[in-house]
Amino acid sequence: MTVFHADSFADHEQVVFISDDFVGLRAIIAIHSTRLGPALGGCRMYPYADEASALRDVLRLSRGMTFKAAAAGLDLGGGKAVILGDPRQSKTPELLRAMGVAVDRLGGRYITAEDMGTTVADFAWVRQNTRHVVGLPEALGGTGDPSPTTARGVYHGIVASVEHRLGRDLSGLTVAVQGLGNVGWNLCRLLAGAGARLVVADVNATLARKACAEFDARAVDPDAIYAVQSEVFAPCALGAVVNDRTLPQMKFRVIAGGANNQLAHDEHGQHLRAKDILYAPDFVINAGGLIRVASEHEGFDPVKVDSQVEGIGATLGRIFELARRTGTPTQSAAMQLVRERLGGIPGSAGSGNDNSAAVALLA
Ligand code: NAD
Repeated sequence: MTVFHADSFADHEQVVFISDDFVGLRAIIAIHSTRLGPALGGCRMYPYADEASALRDVLRLSRGMTFKAAAAGLDLGGGKAVILGDPRQSKTPELLRAMGVAVDRLGGRYITAEDMGTTVADFAWVRQNTRHVVGLPEALGGTGDPSPTTARGVYHGIVASVEHRLGRDLSGLTVAVQGLGNVGWNLCRLLAGAGARLVVADVNATLARKACAEFDARAVDPDAIYAVQSEVFAPCALGAVVNDRTLPQMKFRVIAGGANNQLAHDEHGQHLRAKDILYAPDFVINAGGLIRVASEHEGFDPVKVDSQVEGIGATLGRIFELARRTGTPTQSAAMQLVRERLGGIPGSAGSGNDNSAAVALLA
């Protein structure tokens, strides 16, 4: 198996392989970067087809966390952990406690949290052996469900995107919301409160009906959402929703929503630009939940969290401006700023360049 030369390796600082036969634990912790602070990222449990797939996944995800934390202006790095195994069969308190020991051995360089295949309740076990855990329930001293905060960040992002693209506020504007789960539902409430008209879609028809009653929304079939006549499209369900099949249907002016990895491929950012659709990069607009859980590490300060989440709008405004000035897709502009923020840290590669403007832009 190639490691150092794999694309996904991407200059990771440290990758730790964990094995504990006694409790059946096989795990990998990847620390992509601690340049800005300790590496924070969830711990996923999944029955990977093979070890190479697990390694690829953890490397790709930890690198993504570096960019997300940097874009959110947080003094945190990027990391991720994966446990190899089926969470429905092999997740035991002993295994989770052993994972806690593995996290603790890193001495705070990696901070863990819930992810796919793990729950906040699982982290009560992990927490027994390490204090480097965030995203805990309120009863355990955490800040509870981060989704309403993610939705608030997306809302501020939509306001900034609409202001930039259309020079107006949300009152009377139509927003198409895909997915009415934890993020989408909270987002609908905020949008309706600001006077937006809502078109909604969810594969769960009961949720769609409830949204019509609660927010005076109009529901469409899940596959019809891409062709809706609305100024804004807010994807809050799946990844890769901007793709070769959906793009020709889209007449939106703005795409801004909470889902991860909205562009099927990087080139779709270029296609959106060519169609004059303003795209709010997902890893910037959906960072509200990360901002909230990260605050647990330093001591939760709700006023500071609110102001950082509201700041997502201002960060997007600066990214749009850079994209306009340089003639690049917004996703590329966001990546450029993130790289410059990372390179601009004293003592790190690239600190000889004058990156102060870019650092200030994202701070
Ligand atoms: P969720 O599971 O609570 O909600 C997803 C909703 O989408 C469900 O109601 C589901 O029925 C619906 N859905 C699934 N497939 C659909 C389709 N084809 N068309 C329409 N609706 C469909 O998830 P969530 O926590 O609200 O997260 C939504 C997205 O935001 C995910 O991509 C997630 O990775 C991302 N995200 C969430 C958070 C957070 O704090 N929860 C933070 C960052 C990113």
